[in-house]
Amino acid sequence: MGNAKTTPLITLPPSKLPNLPESIFSTMNQVALQNNALNLAQGFPDFPADPRLIAYLNEAMKAGYNQYAPMAGIYSLREAIAEKIQNLYKASYNPEKEITLTVGATQAIYTAITAMVHPGDEVIVFKPAYDCYEPTVKAAGGTVVPLQMEGKHFKINWEAFRKALGPKTRMVVINSPHNPSGTVLTDEDMEELENSLAGTDVMVLSDEAYEHLVFDGQPLRSVARYPALAERSFLCASFGKTFHATGWKMGYCAAPAALMKEFLKIHEFAVFAVHHPTQRALSKYLKEPEHYLNLPGFFQQKRDTFLQSIQGSRFRYTPAQGTYFQILEYDTITDEPDVEFAKRLAAEFGIAGIPISVFNLNQQDNRQLRFCFAKKDETLQQAGEILSRV
Ligand code: PMP
Ligand code: GLN
Repeated sequence: MGNAKTTPLITLPPSKLPNLPESIFSTMNQVALQNNALNLAQGFPDFPADPRLIAYLNEAMKAGYNQYAPMAGIYSLREAIAEKIQNLYKASYNPEKEITLTVGATQAIYTAITAMVHPGDEVIVFKPAYDCYEPTVKAAGGTVVPLQMEGKHFKINWEAFRKALGPKTRMVVINSPHNPSGTVLTDEDMEELENSLAGTDVMVLSDEAYEHLVFDGQPLRSVARYPALAERSFLCASFGKTFHATGWKMGYCAAPAALMKEFLKIHEFAVFAVHHPTQRALSKYLKEPEHYLNLPGFFQQKRDTFLQSIQGSRFRYTPAQGTYFQILEYDTITDEPDVEFAKRLAAEFGIAGIPISVFNLNQQDNRQLRFCFAKKDETLQQAGEILSRV
């Protein structure tokens, strides 16, 4: 309508998300761009996706798979996902009734929360938390119950968790491997979760965007591996992260049939069906398991290259156990707040990272920045040189 006015002529209803700050990913991307800084802020690879996967996508388009896919996704891809889960976690999900393709993990998470959370329900979220859970809970009329993870290793306080559980608790969100901390939940953590939820109707939303990115010989620990948890869980995953194609925004949700039935009622009217040719390409690519089985080694080497490159710097760290993010502590360098320090690093030194305080309870600032190491080795070397000058 021509000149956009900031004050509309009509009276708007109250905002569902008042006071929502600008995404830190947009802020830091902009800061990186303005300063022509090396961008290790937002989590995406600076190397290409496998040409083989791209060829499969081209083939699918040329073969004419350009019309709507079935609502939950093409059967062959749902079957390939079910097989992957079966092989890795010895858990069986019915491809027809228990797996749905989504627009990235984000839409899987949005849809699971929207399908299950009613006004007045409480959802427990561990902080620091990836930024999409809380606004979605609030938009659904729910209340977020944030619990800060503790200490340098971001451990969940299970005693505090049990105290936070109550008659209004509908769901708990877990995310392992964890963004932004790079930690992973242990078998003991999963046991604590299982025992705490036994006898309740509390559901689990398991954000497994970094499912395949665990290091130092640790096993993958999807919620699917724990039957008593899996039966109450929405497992949300991201092909963007797994196959170096974050721009494809392709993911999936796996959940027991009764949960998936409700999930699909929301999915149908938000999305109906996701990009068909990409599904064809992925169903072929998933039949070659080496593409995901090699990921831990591939990213562990990237982590180690990055850590090696900052040996001479004043930053301190505990090596990431998973994800493609490394937290660096800078309290030995300055006591500037992390958001300011992140902006100054971009402006003065030419490197961008993400300040952790924005994900913490009450923006608690532990003088930590997150750097993405899903980058070419040259980029990581360059990052190391810059960080060593700080
Ligand atoms: N969860 C976490 C923890 C993430 O870091 C991301 C960002 N990729 C997502 C979910 C969203 O994934 P997608 O890009 O597949 O929507
Ligand atoms: N998941 C990515 C990260 O944590 C970015 C997602 C986003 O830009 N919203 O950096």
